Amino acid sequence: MTDHYDVIVLGAGPAGYVAAIRCAQLGMKTACVEKWLNKNDKPALGGTCLNVGCIPSKALLEATELYHEAKHGFDDLGITCSDIKLDVPKMIARKDKIVSELTGGIEGLFKSNGIDWLVGAGTVIADKHVRVKAHDGSTTEHSADNIIIATGSVPIELPITPLHGDAVVDSTGALEWQSVPGKVCVIGAGIIGLELGSVWRRLGSEVVLLEAMDAFLPMVDAQIAKDAKRTFTKQGLDIQLSARVTGSTVKGDKVIVNYENSDGAQTMEVDKLIVAVGRKAYVHGVLTDEAGVELDERGLIHVNDSCETNVPGIYAIGDVVRGPMLAHKGSEEGVMVAELIAGETSSVNYDVMPNVIYTHPEVAWVGKTEEQLKADGVDYQAGTFPFAASGRAKAKGDTGGLVKILRDKSTDRMLGAHVIGPSASELLGQSVLAMEFDATIEDIAHTIHAHPTLSEAMHEAALSADGRAIHIANRKRR
Ligand code: FAD
Ligand code: AMP
Repeated sequence: MTDHYDVIVLGAGPAGYVAAIRCAQLGMKTACVEKWLNKNDKPALGGTCLNVGCIPSKALLEATELYHEAKHGFDDLGITCSDIKLDVPKMIARKDKIVSELTGGIEGLFKSNGIDWLVGAGTVIADKHVRVKAHDGSTTEHSADNIIIATGSVPIELPITPLHGDAVVDSTGALEWQSVPGKVCVIGAGIIGLELGSVWRRLGSEVVLLEAMDAFLPMVDAQIAKDAKRTFTKQGLDIQLSARVTGSTVKGDKVIVNYENSDGAQTMEVDKLIVAVGRKAYVHGVLTDEAGVELDERGLIHVNDSCETNVPGIYAIGDVVRGPMLAHKGSEEGVMVAELIAGETSSVNYDVMPNVIYTHPEVAWVGKTEEQLKADGVDYQAGTFPFAASGRAKAKGDTGGLVKILRDKSTDRMLGAHVIGPSASELLGQSVLAMEFDATIEDIAHTIHAHPTLSEAMHEAALSADGRAIHIANRKRR
């Protein structure tokens, strides 16, 4: 006999565990299959995000930023710090503790919501049955009215630069080094490459990022991306564009990296190499042919706007389907699918999806860039406000960067918000909310922002998009 569920979720990352919790909240008998083993070989919930992604990277970004500030930034404040010591193993252990507290927290939520955690690897077989292979090799079979596949993604490996111990690593390995390498090369100047490069740069490594493309952060508003490149370069991140890595070899305790740029073939000797060339959907062993679920040409599970696959009652969400590979995108899809299964109306507003790069300064954006608006022929006005003109940013001693708000001239609606600067990730929230509520610039103009706060920069940039900022000279109304 097989256990029967209303819903079985495969994968307990931010897409899958959120879907499972929402299903249980809506009264459905729910199970979630998860196979993750943490570095102590213990089963763990939370997926990439909690175990080796969002959370551990932010724990290290936070700690390294404080170290860097204490070492280089306090003098200006009249605080002399001498004898600052770095304990990398302790920093890594703190990160591990945060991870285990949070993944344990999901386990608690599963228990309190009555969700069965089926520990092992799940495979969707025919007729909405799921086979679960436990870590000891034993198998069980379960059936469900609905299946949600949330098996996520894994780092893309480059066959020309095979992973090698702790010398050539992917993003997971770069969160584990126990000492500061002398020189680090990062392949790929994308979000993950920049965040991990920043971590080790702040701790003292020489960091070179080799990026095959000739554009830096092409998805970011060009003015913001230009500011980011200038600032990161000033911090000592050596960002080389049009530099395509062609191979690597480990020689003793060094890694030789081969790459090509406009001057031809080049070689570089480094202590560590991070391969950060993106992630790919993970479907290995997840589906049998009998399940009948189709993939698209990029190997992602093909879904419609409701995240339903070609097989009715089988859904897929998160990194394993189209769209940005972001934790909150997967979680929102999880909520939507649970609510649709329960017969409710639900949707995800992909047009208002926040994006953040957690460097210092942080880069955060939502909606359209100026380049996209120009290409679409939209009649818009841009308003900008530099943090250098913010009293709070000055008081913090963190005045780099700016806010840019894009306004539709005919409707007065906000089309995009772009921030580079202190706490950009948190500041962006108000613009996300404004866009979700379809606020006009007039609405934002009337919204009182506490003084002195960084959020005043968001207010002023919005005012500036209507030619009426108070604390900077306004651009001519176009
Ligand atoms: P995952 O989190 O990958 O979870 C999938 C789960 O499915 C895994 O636990 C896996 O073990 C399990 N699984 C797979 N196959 C099976 C099977 N057959 N049976 C049972 N279980 C299975 N995103 C952000 O939004 N913000 C950030 O700051 C951020 N930082 C990141 C930093 C790094 C270093 C990395 C690598 C990623 C980061 N991301 C960030 C991306 C984010 O982690 C992913 O977008 C997110 O984890 C995707 O969620 P998911 O649930 O779709 O998949
Ligand atoms: P992301 O997908 O945002 O994580 O970024 C990964 C980056 O790696 C992209 O900008 C790619 O252009 C870059 N990339 C992929 N392959 C190579 C390579 N062989 N050499 C240098 N950069 C690469």
